[in-house]
Amino acid sequence: MITVLRIGHRPQRDKRITTHVCLVARAFGADAVIVDTPDSTLKETVEDVVKEWGGDFSITFQPWKRVLKSWKGKIVHLTMYGLPIEDKIAEIRENDPILVVVGAEKVPPQLYEAADFNISITSQPHSEVAALAVFLDRCFQGAQLRKDFGGSLKIVPSERKKLFRDIANQNRKAKII
Ligand code: SAM
Repeated sequence: MITVLRIGHRPQRDKRITTHVCLVARAFGADAVIVDTPDSTLKETVEDVVKEWGGDFSITFQPWKRVLKSWKGKIVHLTMYGLPIEDKIAEIRENDPILVVVGAEKVPPQLYEAADFNISITSQPHSEVAALAVFLDRCFQGAQLRKDFGGSLKIVPSERKKLFRDIANQNRKAKII
């Protein structure tokens, strides 16, 4: 079981990127996301996606220090200053549950202390969305790419067309091109 903790969320400035953190967490196989600042719009957006596209993914809000204190499992903090993922992923994979922490603009130093693993996805600066996606992919070794979410909305993979099934809406098959 993997829970993602997104810290440093500022509802006005980080709306889009935190939404992407949540959507990537869900699509790439995590079970839940905890965001450190309450944001009702974000909650609604993520819950609407879960409702239509399926899965058991949940979003909750809690101060990050409290989450770290009460977490019963290993904590992985994604940071460009950490040890290379290639060297540690086998060891990380042996743990369950895992809390994966991603930051925003400024990451408090206590996080580096609290984490069991400080892990880099390359030692270059980039994005929490990319770091999370690569981490989850390495963690699940690609298996999550074939996960069936069982939602009422489903893409019908196609080479040239945009096709989806909307089971809730009388199995309508839409073609958008
Ligand atoms: N400069 C900030 C700091 O460390 O205090 C980080 C800013 S970065 C835009 C936001 C988040 O993206 C980081 O907290 C980290 O979780 C993630 N991130 C960015 N580059 C990364 C890398 N190379 N490896 C792992 N995570 C990374």
